[in-house]
Amino acid sequence: MERGLSAEAVVAAWEAGLRCGPLDQALTLLWAGGQGKVAADLPLTERDRRLLELRTATFGPGLDCMATCPECGVEVELSLDAAMLAGALAGALAAPKGSAVRIGERDITLRPLTSRDLAAAQRVESAALPGFLRARLAPDSGPLAETEATALDAEIEAQAAAAETLCQLSCPDCGNKWREAFDIATHFWSEVEAAAFRTLGEVAELARAYGWSEPEVLALSPARRSIYLRLARDGS
Ligand SMILES: [Zn+2]
Repeated sequence: MERGLSAEAVVAAWEAGLRCGPLDQALTLLWAGGQGKVAADLPLTERDRRLLELRTATFGPGLDCMATCPECGVEVELSLDAAMLAGALAGALAAPKGSAVRIGERDITLRPLTSRDLAAAQRVESAALPGFLRARLAPDSGPLAETEATALDAEIEAQAAAAETLCQLSCPDCGNKWREAFDIATHFWSEVEAAAFRTLGEVAELARAYGWSEPEVLALSPARRSIYLRLARDGS
């Protein structure tokens, strides 16, 4: 996948995910990028890798975001780089199909978490969650002793933690260094939302100026659109 989202796809993604939670918004972005069929069943690390790739193709390699220093509370502006984030994801991608974990005397195959698992887990009460995840991610584990179940739960938790993209940050004010999780899906979604608002504003402006329809404006390349906008603003 090399092509980013077109102006039309950005608006379509925003509209489709408007009233959804973050989990569905992440899948909506991949759907807009033509990967809707497989998105829900991708391991979370692979989902995030594809989101990062699509985001880079759409908005470029630089990602600006904000973080708050946990020590002194100062707001820190960050400029992250897609290649650096891809590197942070690469470690977690090492075993995308699932890996055998040693529990007691046995090797148990543990499948990585997917968006579909997370969506299903949202409907499960927290007390029942460990058992639910064991049955889903390690269906061949059979009956487990309590200590084995606890060990398997720890493996599942460790795998979920490893799927997070952690960034090393440092505070320009107090020098504190800390690690913070970066969520590509939330970041990408907020950019798509802002881009959709901007694009619809431009559609309205060009419709007023020249009487063009929404599809006509959206079909313009960004370069042509910006020139027509400038001409409309100059009153040409
Ligand atoms: Zn600080």
